[in-house]
Amino acid sequence: MPPETELWNRVEQTAREVFGTHGFGEIRLPVFEPTELFARAVGGETDIVSKEMYSFEDRDETSVSLRPEATAGICRAYIEHGMAQWPQPVKLCCFGPMFRRERPQKGRYRQFYQIDAEVLGGSDTPGIDSEVIEMVMVFFERLGLPGVQLEINSIGHSGTDTDGKLVCRRAYVEALRVALEKVKDQLGADSQRRVETNPLRVLDSKLEHEQAVIETLPRIGEYLCADCAKHYAEMKRLLDLRGVKYRENWRLVRGLDYYMRTTFEITAPGLGSQNAVCGGGRYDGLIELLGGPPTKGIGFAIGEDRLILSLQEAGKGGVAAGRDVYIAWMGEKAQATAIAAAQKLRAAGLRVELPATQQKFGKALGQADKLGARYALILGDEEVASGQWTVKALADGSQEKINEAELVELLKKKV
Ligand code: AMP
Repeated sequence: MPPETELWNRVEQTAREVFGTHGFGEIRLPVFEPTELFARAVGGETDIVSKEMYSFEDRDETSVSLRPEATAGICRAYIEHGMAQWPQPVKLCCFGPMFRRERPQKGRYRQFYQIDAEVLGGSDTPGIDSEVIEMVMVFFERLGLPGVQLEINSIGHSGTDTDGKLVCRRAYVEALRVALEKVKDQLGADSQRRVETNPLRVLDSKLEHEQAVIETLPRIGEYLCADCAKHYAEMKRLLDLRGVKYRENWRLVRGLDYYMRTTFEITAPGLGSQNAVCGGGRYDGLIELLGGPPTKGIGFAIGEDRLILSLQEAGKGGVAAGRDVYIAWMGEKAQATAIAAAQKLRAAGLRVELPATQQKFGKALGQADKLGARYALILGDEEVASGQWTVKALADGSQEKINEAELVELLKKKV
């Protein structure tokens, strides 16, 4: 609701500006797509698809779903519109609501808003990873959000080597499973289940009593293959070169096969347990999985609701409420003059309240005050006849007479 929507607009405008200076163009995606797209792109076994998606049957009995995230739709568009023929990489961003049937709480909603950016095609050089991360950090800085923390990790790749031996992430997941089996009785029921289904997810645990055990587990850094280790080292060097501060977090992982190498998460203060405002990473296998050509990809999604909450908590959520000018008019001649003055002031970009009916000046000034107007322009028959208008500053009650001709310039300067 206004005036908060002003803040939302400022956030989105800042993203458009910052992303625009990095060569991103905006894509507008459908709000719903075939369920199949999300089942494939997000993964049928994930909580998002298996429990949280709003899916329904269309009239032709196909299943469609409200989008739970934007990457799937962007990749679908890349394939469908032959963007592989465009100069690579293609840089796209997107704004809008996402839908997940989660348990609502502060910072967690069933309809929430994301600001999403993806770089598709071209190479997988860490030069791209580091620039994408730098860009999102510049965006937060531009908004003046204090206490933002960037965490990074590399999750390697999920391929096997030629003789079928487990390498890189697969070798790590296996080592993790073996280590977890040994400490299983010290874990809670959820984590115990995950040892079988998806050991990486045990690392997400926030349970107090599991933390000490998790600290003893093997870390992915020790299992990265030479190429992935080199990619990660180079990414960190480039982040340093760009002046981006980060913290390494070996527990930052993603379970899906097509995610690889760079992952990152950004947290902000004032949000309690839901403190992640941005998550991102590289997903080089996704477009191919969706039926497109082999294509590199990296991107992130910012949780806009949480970002707004954090800005407000930090006292950076102020918006200029109210009006610049309230036109208090009385009399038939004054009405014509007031309409003309409102037209001129609005054309100059000022926010003007022109009451639809005349009011006694006392009442009009009270109204102006309630609306948070900064100035009142007082137009009675006397003012109209003399061409000498009165401008009153509502903050301190001071008044001055001005000439009709200087109205726009003067108020613009004051505002
Ligand atoms: P994800 O798409 O799950 O990687 O989430 C990216 C970002 O979106 C998170 O860091 C959150 O800031 C935000 N987000 C995800 N789910 C929700 C939700 N249910 N309500 C509000 N924000 C969310």
